[in-house]
Amino acid sequence: MRLSRIKLAGFKSFVDPTTVHFPSNLVGVVGPNGCGKSNVIDAIRWVMGETSARHLRGDSMEDVIFNGSSSRKPVGSAAIELYFDNSDGTLGGQYASYAEISIRRTVSRDGTSQYFLNNTRCRRKDITGLFMGTGLGPRSYAIIEQGMVSRLVDAKPEEMRSYIEEAAGISKYKERRRETETRMHNTRENLARLADLRDEVEKQIKHLQRQAQVAESTGRSSSRNGSLKRSSWLSGWRKSMAGWLPSV
Ligand code: ATP
Repeated sequence: MRLSRIKLAGFKSFVDPTTVHFPSNLVGVVGPNGCGKSNVIDAIRWVMGETSARHLRGDSMEDVIFNGSSSRKPVGSAAIELYFDNSDGTLGGQYASYAEISIRRTVSRDGTSQYFLNNTRCRRKDITGLFMGTGLGPRSYAIIEQGMVSRLVDAKPEEMRSYIEEAAGISKYKERRRETETRMHNTRENLARLADLRDEVEKQIKHLQRQAQVAESTGRSSSRNGSLKRSSWLSGWRKSMAGWLPSV
């Protein structure tokens, strides 16, 4: 897999749509200080899902959008598209059959950021997941820019570990394990909530059953009481009418 070209528009100093081609494995970008060489690297990090403005040498995410110059007004959005030659099939899974893979990220001044994979809208996670284990990512070792070598040399043990894990191709499995553990944790919490609910419903059922039993026995005794009253009234009435009614 190889980065074959980058399209930049409205990103930092690249206000006009510009395509930078990388025709071979060794390409040099040459220019005077401040001409925008590092902005190309920032563009790659940004598309790969970098969310820290500091790592893109800005104060806020909006700083990646061209903010005007003495001769041009600022623009409202930025878009970068990276094209990867995947003819060697490095990217597996559902994208294995694509000879070229493009990823695009756009951002507007209202902060809306969108990602696209082969022109189909996707999540940031889909892009980071696709490249995980290949060495390419927003902060991975595949991008060796100014100061990166000294950062590697001075890296803390945990940082060094994450570089080594990415190089060994195990970072994607660690990420999947982390996601699965989070899902299991959430499921356990849901189960505990369900058990609480079931206990509560069982208590209510018992209470209602007791009330139903009381109501049933009260109903039985009051109907027995009613029929007793009726028969005693009837016998009283019969007695009072004794001389008047024909004997049966
Ligand atoms: P050096 O060789 O000194 O490292 P460089 O060629 O890598 O420089 P960059 O740091 O990539 O240059 O580019 C800096 C230029 O980008 C500056 O001229 C700066 O004004 C311009 N720039 C950065 N962000 C923006 C922005 N949001 N809008 C307009 N121009 C920007």
